Amino acid sequence: MSRIASVLLPMPLPEAFDYAEPEGLELAVGDHVAVPLGPRVIRGVVMALRDGTGGNRPLKVIQGRVDDPPLPPGVLAFVEWAARYSVDLPGFPLAMALRGLRHPPPKPDKVLVLTGTQPARVTPARLKVLAAAEGVALSSAALASAAGVSAGVVKGLVDEGVLAVDFVEPDRGLPQPDLSLPPRDLNPGQAACVEVMKEMLGAGGFQAALLDGVTGSGKTEVYLEAVAAALQDPEAQVLILLPEIALTQAVLARFEQRFAARPAEWHSGVSPPRRRQVWETVASGNARIVVGARSALFLPFKKLRLIVVDEEHDSSFKQEEGFIYQARDLAVARAKIEGASVLLASATPSLESLFNAQAGRYRWLRLSARHGAAQLPDIGLVDMRETPPEPGRWLSPPLIKAMAVTLHRGEQAMLFLNRRGYAPLVLCKACGEKMKSPDSDSWLVEHRYTGRLVCHLTGFSMKKPEACPHCGAKDSLVSIGPGVERVEEEARYLFPDARVAVFSSDTVMDAEAAKALVATMVAGEIDILVATQAAAKGHNFPNLTLVGVVDADLSLRGGDLRAGERTFQLLAQAAGRAGRHEKPGRALLQTYSPDHAVMQALKAQDRDAFIEAEMGMRQDAGLPPFGRLAAVIASGPDGAALEAYVEALAAVIPNAEGVEVFGPADAPLATVRGRRRKRFLVRAERNVDLQGFMAAWRARAKVPNSVRVVIDIDPYSFL
Ligand code: ADP
Repeated sequence: MSRIASVLLPMPLPEAFDYAEPEGLELAVGDHVAVPLGPRVIRGVVMALRDGTGGNRPLKVIQGRVDDPPLPPGVLAFVEWAARYSVDLPGFPLAMALRGLRHPPPKPDKVLVLTGTQPARVTPARLKVLAAAEGVALSSAALASAAGVSAGVVKGLVDEGVLAVDFVEPDRGLPQPDLSLPPRDLNPGQAACVEVMKEMLGAGGFQAALLDGVTGSGKTEVYLEAVAAALQDPEAQVLILLPEIALTQAVLARFEQRFAARPAEWHSGVSPPRRRQVWETVASGNARIVVGARSALFLPFKKLRLIVVDEEHDSSFKQEEGFIYQARDLAVARAKIEGASVLLASATPSLESLFNAQAGRYRWLRLSARHGAAQLPDIGLVDMRETPPEPGRWLSPPLIKAMAVTLHRGEQAMLFLNRRGYAPLVLCKACGEKMKSPDSDSWLVEHRYTGRLVCHLTGFSMKKPEACPHCGAKDSLVSIGPGVERVEEEARYLFPDARVAVFSSDTVMDAEAAKALVATMVAGEIDILVATQAAAKGHNFPNLTLVGVVDADLSLRGGDLRAGERTFQLLAQAAGRAGRHEKPGRALLQTYSPDHAVMQALKAQDRDAFIEAEMGMRQDAGLPPFGRLAAVIASGPDGAALEAYVEALAAVIPNAEGVEVFGPADAPLATVRGRRRKRFLVRAERNVDLQGFMAAWRARAKVPNSVRVVIDIDPYSFL
């Protein structure tokens, strides 16, 4: 009986294609195969097999199997689920699942081993080689250097047959976790959380919990013990998702301490050959603990028992480009598919997760106090209308005074401003022209370290001109507003003896640099750390006792639906860096609107009141988590074609109960990289199949070649 294989290709195609299985290939679901597509041969994955002939098109024959570890059924189901969830083509999530295979497998290492043959002639140099080769397999160069002899001596022994060439698998470098090490003594709150996690893991099947604990309450310790419990099953694997590479180093170190083995790492900073190794060891089940960025969700786990999403509220879990998804939601979906547990951890959980916890869909584990003697920092507001900074400066007298006291005590201060560069805007004081990106609606940000003006949206950059490009006036360009570089300048001016450093994605480019800067800070070699959100989360700086938030109103100004929530989370996290050990900490928030509900809630440290007010507003407006949102963003270089398309789309909105469509409207960023942009916003009641609605709607209007249409389910950005 011949069989038909449904083969999904990692390409923008609407569905899996049918191919005929050649005689004797004996394919299995999940196998990698090479198939003809037009004039090309492409590799794809077998999603399903069925008996019979005649498929969804004239059948071509599979060329052969590609010898890579097959994708397990959980990944295949997850790829299909993710595509449907994102209303996108299944080839995109498949491409993510295959990302680790882009690099060729590492070649086996060529090594020399003793054969047992005795050398015809014994010299002191030869004896050294024999001793060095005893019981190990080294390359010829490594053997010569271990023995301290020349390459010629080693070669002579090979020629005589005393040493023979052998090939071994390259070192996978994945030591196994030691599960016999004792856990730390947990405090009663932590122990109760771990008990619940053990119960969930013991019960098996899909289980979800929210670990909701103030900064420094010991959430990391709790999930380390949950991991230890999960790994009691000798085949179990666990995945820890983190929002930022800068955080992975600190977390990896904690795992290394607890299990005497470094977990496998998966993020953009990992080299392609290493990625291949990680992918393969995850597929074989040998990688038991994986710590990674959101894309680690697509790894081919053999037996995934637990997923931890740390800092689950973090908006960088939302992937906004290419294949659009919210990793927190996908983590829950993957856990469901695998029958695993998922633990979402945060000091400031998202409203979505709190909603699920309140409704009883997630177990709700709370830690309301810091571990040990550490107290939550005291949070004060600085009213910038009453005590403003000097003209052209950004630090107010009360904050400067608090910094002076802190430094005098030999403690550290952090100035937090979530804005890279020197100044967010540059304008000409002669003609008023604002410096803009040439093909986008965004202001250029001045970076003094590099002397360039940079568009943070598109990456466009230019040297800062000496004259205004608009009116030609010389030396007329002025920098408006502060970024971290400018705050650093002010800190150096105010405290000339202090050691000042900047922590932003411009000064800390990769995980290594982050680790080095964190170590310098922990060692007390920095007095004032000026930081963007890259340093606001997760890190433990024992001697940091003052956090100054330079512009607490900044993220409120965006005005989108999550502005209040995001501001609260960011500032609570930033403030939470202070006083994490014995010394009490303090945070000062500079604000022009001290009466705003967010500022008042922060000051009173009354998160629950803030959440309640915010939930009430969302409920009244039918916004997430009470309702569902989706955006359509259409863009193109040809304004008329774009206009015609969105008009056509507006004319064919399906009639559906509980769904409202707003738009089309010009996007706030109306032009990016020369493409005009239009948006629709869809609001639906919770029980509506929003994805089904969006797919049906999009299918009703033909998309012109020049137009690109993106559907964003649960949008975070409204630009
Ligand atoms: P969170 O993840 O909630 O911010 P951490 O797990 O990083 O908190 O804990 C904060 C600090 O308290 C860390 O330095 C951690 O080592 C310490 N700590 C937490 N729990 C314990 C414990 N049971 N015993 C000893 N130290 C602990």
